[in-house]
Amino acid sequence: MASSSTVTLEKTTTVVQSHNKDVESSPRTTMKTPLLVKGRKIGGDVGEDVVVDKRCCGHKHKKLELVSYDELPEFLRHNEFIVDYYRSEWPVKEALLSAFSIHNETINVWTHLIGFFVFLALTVCAATMVPMEYEAPHYHLGTSMGVAMANITGKNAVVLRTYSTDGAAVVVAMKALQRRPTNNVSIEAEVAAGVLSSPPAAHHRVTRWPFYAYMCGAMFCLLMSSLCHLLACHSEHASYVFLRLDYAGITGLIVTSFYPLVYYTFLCDPFYQSLYLGFITVSGAAAVAVSLLPVFERPELRWARAGLFACMAMSGLVPIVHKMVVFGDRPEAVITTAYEMAMGAFYFAGVVVYATRVPERWMPGRFDLAGHSHQLFHVLVVAGAYAHYLAGLVYLGWRDMEGCWCS
Ligand SMILES: [Zn+2]
Repeated sequence: MASSSTVTLEKTTTVVQSHNKDVESSPRTTMKTPLLVKGRKIGGDVGEDVVVDKRCCGHKHKKLELVSYDELPEFLRHNEFIVDYYRSEWPVKEALLSAFSIHNETINVWTHLIGFFVFLALTVCAATMVPMEYEAPHYHLGTSMGVAMANITGKNAVVLRTYSTDGAAVVVAMKALQRRPTNNVSIEAEVAAGVLSSPPAAHHRVTRWPFYAYMCGAMFCLLMSSLCHLLACHSEHASYVFLRLDYAGITGLIVTSFYPLVYYTFLCDPFYQSLYLGFITVSGAAAVAVSLLPVFERPELRWARAGLFACMAMSGLVPIVHKMVVFGDRPEAVITTAYEMAMGAFYFAGVVVYATRVPERWMPGRFDLAGHSHQLFHVLVVAGAYAHYLAGLVYLGWRDMEGCWCS
């Protein structure tokens, strides 16, 4: 710092030129005022004055300011319609702590950090409330479900009720209601009775990993995104690393979204199961490889990035259409497809907002802190991921109840 800085020290009457508003408001300094060290260039060709307070004993504080788009180094220039409140090359500690202060990334950080904790809670609830992997005849399942349903309370009820009423129970419940159409018996009782009255079927083993792989993929995506928005401002190297982790997170979310859909839908058809899972996994690996190229983050390639991820997600239409062709008369197939269509709508809207940079392009500077496109994109991603989580519960219920008729 000292060797490369221009030190301006006047004992009596010094006018200090600085971008710092506090200093500008009181240009005269005396011995009692801080020493002002001016001039270390930050961020390539655009400089920023650094004000160092040496009130006592050489103790230093670097005052960090939010800067405008024009003051940013090249690697932080992503969206010229957001004109102010940027952090530029902040130390790691200050960048981390900035999660609790106001700047143009605060809401971007928190929309996905909250989403991460929501998915963490959903995963814990699913692990504790949804019956785990088992190998049992139907009547054992019925007994365990009856006991579980009798015990559901509070927040856990959301998970189990979704799992039970949308998934495992739906077929049996419909049969039970057709047989004895009464409103006096709760759906849970109908389900338990229906399952218990079903003849013991072949033993199943419905694997859980595709569902939890998706939950992990969603959490990884949301956490990497939050860290990227928090720390990419630190340096050009940090920006490169965290943007790659962010792209890897998006890819991971898309790839793992296929796993419950393909694995459970084609549980009885290993050929298509392997084909679709292999295709999306290889595509995801290729997308990560492409995203490692430095050119990938250039602002003018915004549409290419959006297009790559959109094409990967769109390829999910193939197994979904295939599912409806084969299982179109089954309520589980219809319900999961409805959730997947909702997810697709959220993601599509998110991609459009991301790529068009609406609304900030209409009023640059107006949405710097709140309401700009990336924040909307984040919210839509969380909504889409949640819709797919609901589909995942239905898949679990479907295959828990029915297994594979071929096995
Ligand atoms: Zn983001």
